[in-house]
Parts: sequence; C-alpha cells; structure tokens
Amino acid sequence: MNENIESVRCLIIGSGPAGYTAAIYAARADLKPVMYQGMQPGGQLTITTEVENFPGYPKGITGPEMMEEFKQQAERFGTDIRSGVVTAVDFSNRPFIIKADDGKTISAETVIISTGASAKWLGMESERKFMGMGVSGCATCDGFFYRGQEVAIVGGGDTAAEEATYLAKLCKKVFMIHRRGELRASKAMQHKVLNTANIEMVWNSAPEEVLGDHSGVTGVRVRNVKTGESRDIPVMGFFVAIGHKPNTELFDGQLELDELSYVKTKPGTTQTSINGVFAAGDVQDHHYRQAVTAAGTGCMASIEAERFLTN
Ligand code: NDP
Repeated sequence: MNENIESVRCLIIGSGPAGYTAAIYAARADLKPVMYQGMQPGGQLTITTEVENFPGYPKGITGPEMMEEFKQQAERFGTDIRSGVVTAVDFSNRPFIIKADDGKTISAETVIISTGASAKWLGMESERKFMGMGVSGCATCDGFFYRGQEVAIVGGGDTAAEEATYLAKLCKKVFMIHRRGELRASKAMQHKVLNTANIEMVWNSAPEEVLGDHSGVTGVRVRNVKTGESRDIPVMGFFVAIGHKPNTELFDGQLELDELSYVKTKPGTTQTSINGVFAAGDVQDHHYRQAVTAAGTGCMASIEAERFLTN
C-alpha cells in the first residue's frame, strides 16, 4: 500500500455525543479509533446553554462543558482526536478511502458517521445576537427555563407543532408564528395545536427582529406578510423550529440517504447501505434528536464495528 496512506481500523467522522461515545467504546475495544472533529467540535450542544436532561448530571451542566468531558473520556482511552474536517470519502471498496483537510489520506476498515444535523435559522442578526440568551433551536432542551412565561415559536411543520405543544405545558402562553395561513404539520398535530388553549396562532407572519436587552430576549417584532403591518409581541423565549438539515453532503452518492437526506440505517442497527460503514446520532435520526439517544446509537455503532471486524 502507498506509504502516504494511513491505515486505521475505525475512523469516526464528527464529534457530538454520538461520535465521542462511539470513540469511548471503540478505544476501549482496542480499535485505536481516529476521530475528525469536523467544523463544529462538540456539535450542536456547544451552542446550547444548560443541559439538564442528560442522566448523570443531577445539577445540570452547560453544553460546552459536557462536550469537553465527553472528549476527555474519549482521550483517556487513547482516541486520536484531530481538529480537522473530512473533505471526501470513497466507500466503493473496502478498506474505505477518506481524505481530510490536514492533507491526510486514510484507509479505514470501518467508518462511523456522526456528523449530526444543523438547525435551520431564520438568519436575522438579532437571532444570532440573542442565541442562548432567549433564542433557542430546541424546546425539549430549553423550554424548562421559561416555565410560567410567555414564549414564541416559529414554524408550521411537525417539529414546530410538537415543540409548541410541549412548551404549552410549561409556559403560560405560546405564540406560534407561521408564514402561511395553514400548518404543514400532520392533521393530528394540527388538531392538537389548534385545540390547545394557551397556543395563539400568529398566521401569515414573519419575524422581523428579536427584541431584547442585556438580560436577553424581551419580545419579537413580527410583520404580517399579507397586510404589511408590524407588531411587537412581548416574550422571554424565542424558539426557531423551521427544520433541520442533516450534514450528509459528503455522503451523497456514496450511501443511501432517505428523502430528507438523512443516512438510512437498517432498523434497530446503525448499519448503513455499505457494510462496514455505520451511522449514529442526528445524521440518521430526525425523530428523537437528543444527546442521550445520539450517545446510545454511538455506542451501538462501535459495538457493530467491532463485531464487523472480528467476523
Ligand atoms: P418541515 O420542513 O416539515 O417544516 C418546516 C416549517 O418551517 C414549515 O412550516 C415551513 O413553512 C417553515 N419554514 C421553513 N423555512 C422558513 C423560514 N425561513 N421562515 C419561516 N418559516 C420557515 O420541518 P420539520 O422539522 O417540522 O419536520 C421535518 C420532517 O420530520 C417532516 O417530514 C416531519 O413530518 C418529520 N417530523 C415528524 C415528527 C413526528 O412524526 N412526530 C416530529 C417532527 C418531525 P412552510 O410550511 O410555509 O413551508
């Protein structure tokens, strides 16, 4: 084999809870995993504030701190963690050939894909400014901080509908802002939203600006796209639920993806359409999207990679 090509038994792409958990298991199984952390080391949790629903942290922990602990645990067992980005993969033959932006070409016997998904944002300057200070992309993660308060959520799909009903149980009132006059969500979810007393629909409306001060979000200015009129809605929390995008551009044409571009896995496993390539975490899950479920599938991917190598 070409001496410039580095051979590894298990290559992990991405460094969220799925990637680090896969690394801990693979390292302890002596697979000597190499991990490329990707564009956002630590993944989506590094842009959240407090994490209170990950078991084992009874007092809660910040997202960035938790991911640092995941990293240290993966390093403790010898994972080779690299701060680079994988730029190309070739899964047509085994071992697989992977190129990274540090100039390395790697020949990998197994690959675990844990590149996650990215929340879509509206793109307003004020949305970025108050990120983690009242602006959130995950009601299940952050809704608890707004108990008894008034909040707004943007979107009209199943995620927004689910998150709005979740928030309605915790919050005094939820303004659901949608750019059209009807929801995209399934009929059952629409029914739930429209029959929840403390959800107020703000139809045909687009947020223009998130309002706030040094303490965080204080409201949102919305414009009715039909009438052109603007109004301010006072809220303490502003949730964006306009969809997620799986980070799978790299794998397009190499692996089977579903109609939403998530990596397809064999039900109950992390096995992709290519033997020896496994996918864990949000890159293959648009349903649960939790750190703990991502970590669980990271563990599964490693065990499956180890069994694949020993069979
Ligand atoms: P969707 O793409 O289904 O919905 C996104 C929503 O956000 C739409 O209502 C869309 O408006 C709106 N939107 C998109 N971009 C903007 C923007 N720039 N400004 C304002 N509004 C915007 O995403 P979801 O995350 O809701 O769902 C993804 C998939 O996952 C779907 O297939 C869904 O059914 C599935 N899912 C299923 C669940 C379940 O079965 N329990 C739970 C959650 C998701 P518009 O309608 O005008 O396009």
